[in-house]
Amino acid sequence: MGLSACFVDERLHRMKPFLSCVIPCFNEEETLPELYRRVTAALEAAPISGYELILVNDGSQDDSWTMMSGLCANDTRVVAINLARNHGHQLALTAGLHHSHGDLVLVIDADLQDPPELINEMMAVMKKEGADVVYGQRRQRAGETWFKRASAAAFYRFLGCVAEVDIPADTGDFRLMTRRITDTLNAMPEQHRFIRGMVSWIGYRQVPFLYDRAARFAGETKYPLRKMLRFAVDAITGFSISPLRLASLAGAITGGLAILLLVYTLISWVTDDTVRGWSSIMGTILLFGSVQMFVLGIMGEYLGRLYLQSKGRPLFLIADICHAQEPPEETPP
Ligand code: UDP
Ligand code: MG
Repeated sequence: MGLSACFVDERLHRMKPFLSCVIPCFNEEETLPELYRRVTAALEAAPISGYELILVNDGSQDDSWTMMSGLCANDTRVVAINLARNHGHQLALTAGLHHSHGDLVLVIDADLQDPPELINEMMAVMKKEGADVVYGQRRQRAGETWFKRASAAAFYRFLGCVAEVDIPADTGDFRLMTRRITDTLNAMPEQHRFIRGMVSWIGYRQVPFLYDRAARFAGETKYPLRKMLRFAVDAITGFSISPLRLASLAGAITGGLAILLLVYTLISWVTDDTVRGWSSIMGTILLFGSVQMFVLGIMGEYLGRLYLQSKGRPLFLIADICHAQEPPEETPP
């Protein structure tokens, strides 16, 4: 513990590198040597003045941390962060982003599904398009089960329908971002994080970069069904309050149906076509049922607004301001 704290503290005072590469790792002892080899080779060949490689150990139970601290001891460009327990991919990535200093930040997974060698092309796209984010969009996903591919495709389509911002489909966290995107992300305190959605929410110019996703280099996926479902719930609830509005919708539908049924029960009552009391009971149930749904919908709307407010996201972000002339100098109050 003392040793790990000392590693991190020492590096916090290091020179600001041009690029930070952030990699969350959970039980990745089998991939770490090859990951280090390929990432350092790719970054050394990239047209950048310097880089830092931030490896975040997300409470691994294998030898990942020993290996990471070994890499850190031998290479001054490596920063190893040891989380106190397993916090999940998105929070491990958040920890790494908080400790990054580079003007550019490259996010990749530890399993080499996203080829680090693409950094040159991604940087070229960023420069050519004047973009703040170049996000990897999967053309093909090798080595993944049909279930994973089908559920991911269905999930991204559904998210596209309900989310209040455009979140690109078939896009993971593999991306190159500028410092202002990273700083904004770091300033967003929400706990249930769906980082690719948060980056979309931030805005500025974001362009896709199509690539073929490789198979995992070694080991098993660290996203079992349970984690995938939680991730999907975080994504949907983080970017949409439509589930809370379901009650209003149900209230509107049952209200419409109630009116039709009320007409029917009234006719039955007038024509004496029914047992005594049936019409009044039906009327009461229908009326109160739809009123309850409607009131739940109103409460859902207020709850949703409170929820959005509690996220503490910035109200707006300004990309540029143009002045016809120099702005007047501010005079102190
Ligand atoms: N990961 C993590 N914490 C977790 C689960 C995963 O840091 O609790 C890391 C993992 O080591 C990898 C990345 O998140 O670098 C993505 O995980 P994985 O490749 O297993 O997901 P998949 O590609 O199968 O969806
Ligand atoms: Mg993977």
